[in-house]
Amino acid sequence: MGTLYTEDKQHGLRRLPAVSRILQDERVQEAITEHGRELVVDCVRETLDRLRARLKEGETVPTDLSSVVQEALQAVERWRTPTLRRVINATGVVLHTGLGRAVLAEAARRAVAEVAQGHSILEIDRDTGERGDRIEHVRELLRRLTGAEDATVVNNNAGAVLLAVTVLAQGKEVIISRGQLVEIGGAFRMPDIIAQSGARLVEVGTTNRTRLSDYERAITPDTALLIRCHPSNFRIVGFSEEVPAADLASLAHRYNLPVLDDVGSGCLVDTGRFGLEHEPTLQESVQAGCDVVTCSGDKLLGGPQAGIILGRKEIVQRIRRHPLHRALRVDKLTLAALEATLRLYLNPEEAVQEIPVLRTLATPADDIKRRARRLRQRLQAILPGAGITVRLREGESAVGGGSLPGQQLPTTLVCLRLSDGNAQRLARALRWQEPAVFTRIEQEEVVIDPRTLLEGEMETLVQAVARAVTQCLGGEANHA
Ligand SMILES: *Cc1c(COP(=O)(O)O)cnc(C)c1O
Repeated sequence: MGTLYTEDKQHGLRRLPAVSRILQDERVQEAITEHGRELVVDCVRETLDRLRARLKEGETVPTDLSSVVQEALQAVERWRTPTLRRVINATGVVLHTGLGRAVLAEAARRAVAEVAQGHSILEIDRDTGERGDRIEHVRELLRRLTGAEDATVVNNNAGAVLLAVTVLAQGKEVIISRGQLVEIGGAFRMPDIIAQSGARLVEVGTTNRTRLSDYERAITPDTALLIRCHPSNFRIVGFSEEVPAADLASLAHRYNLPVLDDVGSGCLVDTGRFGLEHEPTLQESVQAGCDVVTCSGDKLLGGPQAGIILGRKEIVQRIRRHPLHRALRVDKLTLAALEATLRLYLNPEEAVQEIPVLRTLATPADDIKRRARRLRQRLQAILPGAGITVRLREGESAVGGGSLPGQQLPTTLVCLRLSDGNAQRLARALRWQEPAVFTRIEQEEVVIDPRTLLEGEMETLVQAVARAVTQCLGGEANHA
């Protein structure tokens, strides 16, 4: 076909302003002062390249100086604006992995800010002035809260399991029930982790039932470890049976073998008090005699992303000396947040008050209903009278984050319906507000669950909904 342009295209290409001309523009000069020459010049060049390509495709694009300058400056702005930003979680999923799981307690946020602002006593022994160990900031706390002999922390729970299995069973066999060979979202698959650690997987039992005798029959001189894994994100109901941790630990100890229990969520308080089923706690797993217990820091524990490892002193010491422990090291900001979160648990009532995950789970249905009514009232006052309806409906919130699957908390939902029934469009418009709002779609409605709104977010949400609805209806909202 060759590169024969129509006259129009040629004309458009010729009309694009030259780089030198654009750089003389006053607004561009200002941008150079503010953002530096290199970024601005690159953005101008890239903008021209983009426009040229579109002209060659036969598109009609504005080629006047002012339009080109504006587009280039928008590109500069995009580079300078962080994309990882705060959003409003109106999904009702308390631990939403896509939205960053646990919101940190105020004490944890303050600890992070303080450690970020200056130098910190991360790895120095105050007494001797010698190099110390960063884990010391949380080790005693974890021991006290869980009853474990010893503890350490790594980057996340996937890392904790990989590290523990590597240390305890590399080159040997590990036994696990077929009912616990789980996949947790984001590519954590127990069989893959075991393979990666260099251990050989020995599956026992069936998907729905595994008995103690199944484990016992599989033990050989090559066995190094028995693994339990909490099936965090699914449930097997009906004709099912699994071996309690204490029984598995007794069996393992008779054969001089350790048990690793991956409890997943890292719960330290009884979830029964929130009207939920009882989630196994870290204390219970330690008490049951499991030799190594691992969990995440940012699920029900309500802290930062981290992998907590509890266990017998001798095993935790070996874990701490392994090169992978160094490779998976937690940073000071994580440690600061984790330490502050754990200190709240020293008074469990304070923990439930102060840790957002627990407070959100503990919010009574009546309080949520009041919030939902207030939200509906504010929305009805601000939204246009036509094109959108707002109604309340009884519904359910979810714990999320691979915790307490299938367990739901009663809530009152605020449902928005556009008269054209296009819920996807409204949900998308909400995601592009500043701050972005994330909702659920159910029965062609955009559904807002007030349970996961944080303090002070209600009015921001109302304004964001008003803007999004206005955009969808192509009209004006009454910003009273
Ligand atoms: C969530 C979960 C993991 C993965 O934890 P991360 O901290 O996300 O790495 C591993 N095992 C279980 C049982 C889990 O629930």
